[in-house]
Amino acid sequence: MDASECIFCKIVAGISECHEIYQDDATLAFMDIHPANDGHCLVIPKQHFEKVFDMPPAAFGTVASTAARVARVVNEVLRPGGISLLQANGELAGQSVLHVHVHVLPRRAGDGLPINWDRNRDEDQRFDRHRIAEIAERLRLRLHGAV
Ligand code: AMP
Ligand code: ZN
Repeated sequence: MDASECIFCKIVAGISECHEIYQDDATLAFMDIHPANDGHCLVIPKQHFEKVFDMPPAAFGTVASTAARVARVVNEVLRPGGISLLQANGELAGQSVLHVHVHVLPRRAGDGLPINWDRNRDEDQRFDRHRIAEIAERLRLRLHGAV
């Protein structure tokens, strides 16, 4: 997508409105326009990157740093039951705006948001230890530059 058509780039440029809560040289935090819960906000890099793997890891580090700062304040001010930090890449992952963003999402008891998958479904084949080890080996090799 062309950055000139990107809604978050328009917000950074001041062409579109937002409820800004924080900004620094590299990042901007503002309220989500369709909050999943009260206090739901977004943290973005000011520079346009579509997905997290399009940006230098250190640049995502600055976004993560702002997200941690915002999450702390959301927690202190709103006292939700918990906070989820979420970041989607690709339609399948639920990404609807193609400019990297981290959701700072306050959680409430019984909010039923469909991101709480069952951690204990142990009958599934993806829980197989050999399968996990085999996938770990493939990732380890690539992360250490062997393939
Ligand atoms: P995702 O679906 O993970 O890509 O998240 C995109 C988020 O951006 C959604 O939660 C939308 O409600 C939010 N959003 C879209 N347009 C705007 C906007 N103009 N201002 C604030 N939030 C927005
Ligand atoms: Zn953008």
